[in-house]
Amino acid sequence: MWRTLSHMVGSVLLGSVALFVGCAGIPMQSEPVVVKRVQMQMGTLVSITAVAGNEAVAHAAATAGFAEIRRLEELLSTWISTSELSRVNASAGVKPIHVSMDTLMVVQRAMQAAEMTDGGFNIAIGPAVEAWNVMDGQRIPTRSELDALRPLVDLRAVHVDVREQTIYLDKPGMRIDVGGIGKGYAADQAVEALRRAGALAGVVALSGDIKTFGRMPGGKMFPVGIQHPRNDGSVLAWIDLQDEAISTAGDYERFFERDGVRYHHILDPRTLQPARSCQSVTVVAREGIWADGLDTGIFVMGVESGMQLVEALPEVEAIIVDFEGHVYVSSGLQDRIRKP
Ligand code: ADP
Ligand code: MG
Repeated sequence: MWRTLSHMVGSVLLGSVALFVGCAGIPMQSEPVVVKRVQMQMGTLVSITAVAGNEAVAHAAATAGFAEIRRLEELLSTWISTSELSRVNASAGVKPIHVSMDTLMVVQRAMQAAEMTDGGFNIAIGPAVEAWNVMDGQRIPTRSELDALRPLVDLRAVHVDVREQTIYLDKPGMRIDVGGIGKGYAADQAVEALRRAGALAGVVALSGDIKTFGRMPGGKMFPVGIQHPRNDGSVLAWIDLQDEAISTAGDYERFFERDGVRYHHILDPRTLQPARSCQSVTVVAREGIWADGLDTGIFVMGVESGMQLVEALPEVEAIIVDFEGHVYVSSGLQDRIRKP
């Protein structure tokens, strides 16, 4: 869904590139240049928009952003057997594994997100995600199959040792999966890479996980469209962002239907079934890691306790579409969103 959105961001941006000449005929410094590039990374379409003083710097910044995402993918992906997380998972019940500060940070934040969302967010969900394999298998695991996995989806058995910089899963068969938070962290870190490479502003979008910094040339904020969860390709609302992240968790991106029931990729850690209370949850926060971790957790919590959490958190806002399609907007966003 956000694929179309990043296109929208891109087309708005690219329209504003211009060379500016002063009225007295004296060439003034040219307007910043905007470069937008896309690549497949972390199993999704990544789009990087870099604003810089000249094209070489803008390209170098985008390249640095992609390199940073690749670096994190190699640490965090459970599809890469040599990644740090794969090694942590392979050593479940055996021994702690020494990890980078990045991996430690993502897992620590994930544990905090779990606490905040009352267990709605749970990275120990790995074995259940595999049992469903919503994308490829289109199979519905049996009740007894899921019951057997339940003891493994246990965050108390995830041990993060900050001093030793290790992670240990103390039950064999446990697996942690940061699919619900890692892209938000990658967006944050890629923005830092853009900045270090000299970009003045930019947007990093890993599908629905978007982090912006600065403003577009000309001073406008970056407009982002929020996908309607049921009308494919249409926008539910627009919002302008500056130095903020936005992330959407939805039941419409990876799903299949069987006998009129929609099976999708966000699981309720209590039932190990697809969470039923929402169609989509969009979170706006300062950092992508929070926007991404919270959208998945709030999706599981549902509108009532989800909104309560959002209203209690400073600098966190949300748009929640419940299972019947009713749209709820947190207090801090009510004057900021535009309906199409
Ligand atoms: P995406 O942008 O890929 O749709 P989301 O932020 O919506 O990502 O997270 C979905 C992914 O998170 C799933 O593919 C799975 O790997 C993982 N996941 C599913 N349910 C949960 C949960 N309750 N807590 C944490 N992670 C989950
Ligand atoms: Mg998420």
